[in-house]
Parts: sequence; structure tokens; C-alpha cells
Amino acid sequence: MTFALAGNQNSGKTTLFNHLTGSNQHVGNFPGVTVERKSGGIIGHKDDVLVDLPGIYSLSPYSSEEIVTRDFLIKGKPDGIINIVDATNIERNLYLTLQLIELRMPIVLALNMMDEVRANHGSIDTERLSERLGIPVVPISAAKKEGLSELVSQAKAAAERRALPTRIDFCSAGPVHRTIHAISHLIEDHALRINVPERFAATKLVEGDAPMMDALMLSENEKDMIEHAVKEMEDEAGTDREAALADMRYAFIEEACKACVTRVGESKEYRRSVRIDSLLTHKYLAIPAFLAVMLIVFWLTFDVVGGNLSGLLGAGVDAFIGAVDASLINFGLNPVMRSFLVEGVLSGVGAVLGFIPIIVSLFFFLSILEDSGYMARVAFVMDKPMRKIGLSGRSLAPLLIGFGCSVPAVMAARTLSGRRDRRLTVLLIPFMSCSAKLPVYALFTAAFFPRYQALVMISLYVGGILLGVLSAYIARKTVFKDAPLPFVMELPNYRFPSVKTVLRLMWDKAADFLRRALTVILTATVIIWFLQSFDARLNTVADGSGSMLASVGRRAAVIFRPLGFGDWRVSTSIITGFMAKEAVISTLAVLTGGAAAGLQSLFSPLSALSFLLFTLLYTPCVAAVGVIKRELGTLSAMITVLYQTGFAWAAAFIVYRVGMMFI
Ligand code: GDP
Ligand code: MG
Repeated sequence: MTFALAGNQNSGKTTLFNHLTGSNQHVGNFPGVTVERKSGGIIGHKDDVLVDLPGIYSLSPYSSEEIVTRDFLIKGKPDGIINIVDATNIERNLYLTLQLIELRMPIVLALNMMDEVRANHGSIDTERLSERLGIPVVPISAAKKEGLSELVSQAKAAAERRALPTRIDFCSAGPVHRTIHAISHLIEDHALRINVPERFAATKLVEGDAPMMDALMLSENEKDMIEHAVKEMEDEAGTDREAALADMRYAFIEEACKACVTRVGESKEYRRSVRIDSLLTHKYLAIPAFLAVMLIVFWLTFDVVGGNLSGLLGAGVDAFIGAVDASLINFGLNPVMRSFLVEGVLSGVGAVLGFIPIIVSLFFFLSILEDSGYMARVAFVMDKPMRKIGLSGRSLAPLLIGFGCSVPAVMAARTLSGRRDRRLTVLLIPFMSCSAKLPVYALFTAAFFPRYQALVMISLYVGGILLGVLSAYIARKTVFKDAPLPFVMELPNYRFPSVKTVLRLMWDKAADFLRRALTVILTATVIIWFLQSFDARLNTVADGSGSMLASVGRRAAVIFRPLGFGDWRVSTSIITGFMAKEAVISTLAVLTGGAAAGLQSLFSPLSALSFLLFTLLYTPCVAAVGVIKRELGTLSAMITVLYQTGFAWAAAFIVYRVGMMFI
């Protein structure tokens, strides 16, 4: 049997999903984390599948990830719905519940976050609530794993018995009530034909839902009758159609909550959040506070924690490679084979492995910021400045995810409602320094700017953002002239970050990086080693400059000479960087023997800087381009590749030429 997990954003759906299925989906105290549906088998019930859906507030969707949810509920025909409701915010959450009940499917309400309700000395009479709504209600705490087995057995029981909600009518007598009944009568046959519950169809028509109107294939005459009835209802109720329905639902919810929910004032989490927000979302202090927080995060990552650990790990990796090399020489292995193992495989992969600590610690801090609820504030605070460049606060989440990897970032842009907002956001994602660029920065800054390492790194991050802002500004003045959609986001309460979520995210990042090191990077280094060890007739070459690779690299190098790095080895690394940006490092390690002295023979500090800027900006890797193509089409993907590469060339050129004037 298939169960759909539906609920508002940030109500704990993914937390519940992870516990019930043993999966590892990303949980975040930030609305809009889940953008695709994910399914998984329920532990202990191996024939039952649970589907985690993006959060929605109603069944009248606006953005594309809301459509995912609605389509799955209506067309996917799950055997049952588990409606998860945030008990600390029960009135708003029940608004969706009432609409789900209209779908006439077996449904169980999972009343989540009961731990917080209890901690605030509140209580909810679940039996009475269940009577009012006509569906089973199970109190749970997804985070504390309370009530989960009860929930599963209730959901299974309801689905097996095909138990439908016992109540279908939430109206109080009045014009809205009469209109819904009249319309459901009128469209009964049409609804039956397309297999949607007539009452659900009727409320959608009262709301004025155009897709439903089309799906029902009504005659002109019937459409007129409906519009007429709705017009009459609006006149009588004195509000427009959507508000009339919303008023009706909220009246019911208010009644029900008055009877079932006992609350002792505001929750202490809420009061604490308001106190913290008086500082962090303060009119003048908010943005300096954000900058200070980011500065601390980067400083801790690059200088204090990650930097030192990376140094240690890097030294360990070098020692290991040295030991292997020595023992292979001792053993008397064929020199070509030894070169393959040591210079091809080990030094290529080893060159990127050392950077795991930096990446993991950056994500450690970012996930703490996200899980505590701070990132939602940042989106809220940044909404106004972002409007100046044609974006809204909602674009901030995808852009921040872009610091990790462009692939999920582009996907996260689905939470944006309009195509215009989505395209502009995706255009900016490559300007964020993804975690694959980090090893390049770290290696070069250590070799060329040892005293100012953290400063140069932060400048690259900030520089990327500023150049992105510049691009957005240009785009706004030329192609994307209309204003972004308005942005409303509720601020979740601050929560203490869950250790498990943070650890899981760190592990995910490390595992992801390792996987890439062992697949893409390994393949790239082996190919590079092969191409640089042989000439076109497959004879081994004494040094790389006679190899096949050198002749290709030399041709490409012409393009990069004006930027200060015209050596064939550098242009080769830029080409392999298109596969994955870390490959820039592994390629240079294979081609220069891996020592810092090798790098210093290829670059001056100035050309190193120009190279870093070029690496930051030039086309995102194949994987990212692929996902842009999938989300927005081939044209957008091509524009991204060309625009980024052109922009990178120009920026590196300017930095190098201007720098030359001062040296
Ligand atoms: P989704 O957006 O509905 O998928 O919600 P998530 O599963 O991502 O959870 C949102 C936030 O609520 C996270 O910070 C969770 O740690 C937190 N959370 C989830 N369930 C509970 C619960 O039962 N009690 C408490 N106190 N927090 C919870
Ligand atoms: Mg989720």
C-alpha cells in the first residue's frame, strides 16, 4: 500500500519520513527544503511505501513543487494520506486538513510536535478533535519518535478498511454552504467521469480554480450557471469567492480548536524567538549581524578548524604516498606501472582528499545556522535588498545551497513561483563558490598567499557574490524587467539544532565528496596520466612536454595567455575542471608532481589570483549544466556555459592587466 505524507511546510514531514523509512533525507528548519517527492518502504511493513511530498498550505497550488504534491494526491491515487499537522500552529495547519478531507480518501491526522505543546503546558483533546473532523487523530513527536507505531497501525487500518472521513460538511448554514451544495449537484456526473470527489470539485469551482474548470469539461451553459451562483454568493456574503471559502473554513477551525485545544499563553519557544529576532531582524542591525555571522563561520572554517585539520590530513596523505612509492621502488615494480599508481592514481585523488575537513566544517556551521532557524530570518531580512537586483528573499535558499553544490541548488530554485524568478536565480547560482571550488582556493592561497589565506578565500566568496549581483543588476535592466513576485514566509521558531541532523548533513557532504573523488576525479586523473605519459604513437615520453596532452593543452593555452597563465598544463586543468572543479587540482598534481614548487613555477602571485577568479567564474561542471538543461531547457544551459566562461575570461583579464600596471 502507498501512503502519501502531506502537510504544511516545516511541519516535520521529512523528520517523520526518515524515522519511518530509515532514509536520510535532508531535514531543515526552513520552509521549502523538500522539492521533489521521495518514497521509501516503511520499516517493519515491507510492502508499504511512504511518499514524502513538498509542503503545501492548500490544494490551490502556485509554485511547481506545490503542483507535485497536488498531482500526486489527486492523480497518484495513494491508498491513504497521512496528514502531518504542527500542533503548535494547529489553526493554520488544519486549513489544509479540511481540504484533504474533501478528497474522500482514507486519511489519518498525525498531530506532530506534541513534545513542544506539552513543554508549554498546553494540551490537545485528540479524541474530541477526531470526532469533530471525522478522521483518526494520533498525537506524535517525530523528533522524539513518540507515537510512530500507533500512527502506522492507524494508517494501515484506515487504508485496509478503506475508511473514508465520516464527515463531509464543514459549512455553517449560509450562502457559501448553499452555493457549494448547488454546484456539487450540478457537476456530479462530470466529477464522477474524471474520478474526483464532487464536493472537492465544487469547492475548487467556488474558489475559481481554472484547471479544475477545464478538467471537468463543463458546457458553456453550466459554466454560466456556476459563475452566476458564485456571483450571488459573493454579493450575499459581502466578500470575494476565495475569502468567502477561507472564512468558512477558518470559522470551523476556530470552533473546533476552542473545544479541543488548551493553551497557556504563548509558547516559550515563541517568546524566545521574538526576543532573539528583536536583535537579528532589527531594522539596522540585521544585515551587519548577518555579515558578522558569515565572517565568523568562514574564519572558523578556513583558519581555525578546517584549515588546520586539512593541513594535517594533507601531510598524512603525502606521507602515505611517499611510503607507497618507496616500497614500490624497493619491490622493483615496472617504472611505468609505478608511475601510474603513484603519479596517476594516488597523487591525483590524494590531492583532493585533503580538503574534506574544510568542506565538512563549512557544512557543519551552515547546517547549524539552517537548523536553528536563522537562515529563514536571513531570507526575510535580505528580501528588500534582493528586490533591488530583481530577486526576492525566496531566492536566498537556492543561492545558499549553491555554496554546497550547484546541482541541488538549481533544483531548489523550483520553490520559486514564477519562471522569471526561477531563471534569474539559476543564472546566479554559478557565482556562488561551490564546495568543489574550495580545494582550488585552498591549495592556491596556501601556495601563494600563505599570510593572507583566510582573507583571500573570503574575498573570493564575497567577490563571487558581488559579481553575481552585478550580473543580476544588468539582467534586470535588460532581459528581466518585470518585478519579482511578492514574498511571504513565516518565520519558524528558533530551535536548538538537532545533533543528528547536523551530523547527517556533515556525513552526506563528506560521503558525496569521497564518492566524487573515487569516481569522476579518479577517472580524470587516470586519463590525464595516460595522455601525458605517452605520445601519439604510444611510446612513453621522458617528460610530459612531448606528450599527446601537451599538444592539445598548448593549443588551448593560447586562449589563456592574456590572463597570465599560458602553460599547457594549466589549460589542461581548466578543461578537466569542466568534469568537476576539483579535477583542476588533481590534474595539476599529476602534471606538476604535486609539490608547491611545481605550482610556483607555473604562476606568479598575480596570475594565481587571476586563475582563481577564472576558476570561480567559468562554466559550472557538467553535472550542473545537465540539471540546468533539465529544469530550464537547452537554451538556458547554453547561455549559462557561454555567459559564465565569457564573464570569467573578462574578469580574469581585467584583474591581470590592471595588476600588471602596479607591479
Ligand atoms: P518538513 O518541511 O515538513 O519536511 O519538516 P522537517 O522534517 O524538515 O522539520 C522541520 C523542523 O521541525 C526541523 O527543525 C525538525 O528538527 C523539527 N521537528 C520535526 N518534528 C519535530 C517534533 O516532533 N518536535 C520538535 N520539537 N521539533 C520537530
Ligand atoms: Mg521536508
